[in-house]
Amino acid sequence: MESIQVKTVDPIGQELLKSAYQRGLKLSWDRFEKLQPQDGFLRVGLSCPYGCLQGPCRIDPFGRGAEQGFCGLDRDGMVAALFLRLALSGAMEAMPEEKGGSEPSWPPALKDAVSRALKNLGGDRTSPAEAQRAAALLNRPMESPESLIRQALRLALLTVAWLLKGPASDARKKSLPLKVGYGLLAQKEINIGVCGRPSSEFLKSLLAEVDRIHPDNGQVLSLGEFIPLDAGCLPFTCTSGEAESVLISGRINGLIAGPGTDPSIIELCRTLNIPAASSIDPKTIRGLVQKAGEKKPPGLQAVLQLQPSWVEEAEVVVAPSHLEESFRQGPAKKIAVLGGADHPCHPLGWIPTEVTPALLGKGFAVAGWGDGGLWMIKKGLASEKTKRPVQILGGKRGPVLALKALASSGRLKEVKGICFTGLKSCQDLAMALGLACLGLRVGMAVPLPLWGSEKVRNLLQERLAAAGGSLTHFDHPAQADEILDWFLK
Ligand code: SF4
Repeated sequence: MESIQVKTVDPIGQELLKSAYQRGLKLSWDRFEKLQPQDGFLRVGLSCPYGCLQGPCRIDPFGRGAEQGFCGLDRDGMVAALFLRLALSGAMEAMPEEKGGSEPSWPPALKDAVSRALKNLGGDRTSPAEAQRAAALLNRPMESPESLIRQALRLALLTVAWLLKGPASDARKKSLPLKVGYGLLAQKEINIGVCGRPSSEFLKSLLAEVDRIHPDNGQVLSLGEFIPLDAGCLPFTCTSGEAESVLISGRINGLIAGPGTDPSIIELCRTLNIPAASSIDPKTIRGLVQKAGEKKPPGLQAVLQLQPSWVEEAEVVVAPSHLEESFRQGPAKKIAVLGGADHPCHPLGWIPTEVTPALLGKGFAVAGWGDGGLWMIKKGLASEKTKRPVQILGGKRGPVLALKALASSGRLKEVKGICFTGLKSCQDLAMALGLACLGLRVGMAVPLPLWGSEKVRNLLQERLAAAGGSLTHFDHPAQADEILDWFLK
């Protein structure tokens, strides 16, 4: 309990964690602590990723045990193959829904950067066939680390191209209003939380049902996922790393679990007697909304006196043209893009809330995305009342929105860095790599599984440097001042 303040920078979040501890509830932090040390082989890339059942083989990072896999695969080949495996998963996550993905089409402003990147990686185009080729390479060791890294980077470019295309629904408006904060939980009596990403049809039915059954005292809140609606985004009561804390607040009366919801959320709902339903079946909506309005079960007691005013607001960019206009008007000549998912390596909110004010103080224009962006809003850094508010980019593909906007306004050279405070999915990693392939300076605040092979790290940096980009990562969770120094260099 004494370490609660190093788990989140939010004082309300700290109170909720204390309450969980006192009630004997086990949350993600307890699981994270019990999991230590996490798999050290995998962490440095020395756990074989090939689709081979003669393993699993691991190579000793210190050279005191196995130096090769059963088939003779060495550490460089293993690390490079794991990197390719992650890039392939990232590309698959980003692949548009149409069968087999689509041929990438790049905005005109990026054509030069793309052709430079492709020249460096071999070939004059990327296509959905890159994924098949990568899958074939990962059947059994047969290619050099150079080829595997090149293929990973080609997939990373494809990932950026697919993310640039984005879902059609995101393009309807240039920006959307968004509210964030624990105070939302105190604004209405009945709160239905949404985890993961239910379909827009499901959400429309859910909102209509809440309006019908609880017209004056019900609302639907996001527990960490960016969910655009026609007129605005679903209000966020918390970032993704705080979803469990919000459940123990005693102010969530029902939960919808969309695709991507962690199993721990469903389990915690069971423990706390919070009615929960999957978003797969729309028939569950009515029952869930009705149950949410019933008398609170004994486990669901409000544990904090929350003030309705504890809410911050911002305008979230969903179309690059909006960001382009903002950057055009802004006088700053140095641009920092900072964001990404909450990660248990760092206290929640620490890097975005420490580094952003320091960058603004040094004359940077800052854009944030993901949980990092939400922490900036919570801190009031995106408020129109501030002298130079940060720009908040909607959704997980925030950095590619920035890429498109900055390329179109001819300001890519002013980008001092794009830093990922945390990674949650392989898509994040593939996107980061793709941005570096296009000549941008990219940083990571969490370690990547590359420390098992110096050769692979060098190969990667050489490839990226040839395209004018770079990827900085640390062998430890980076401190806020390391990230700040990286931006200022
Ligand atoms: S491919 Fe080689 S190193 Fe990997 S599991 Fe199979 S035998 Fe082991």
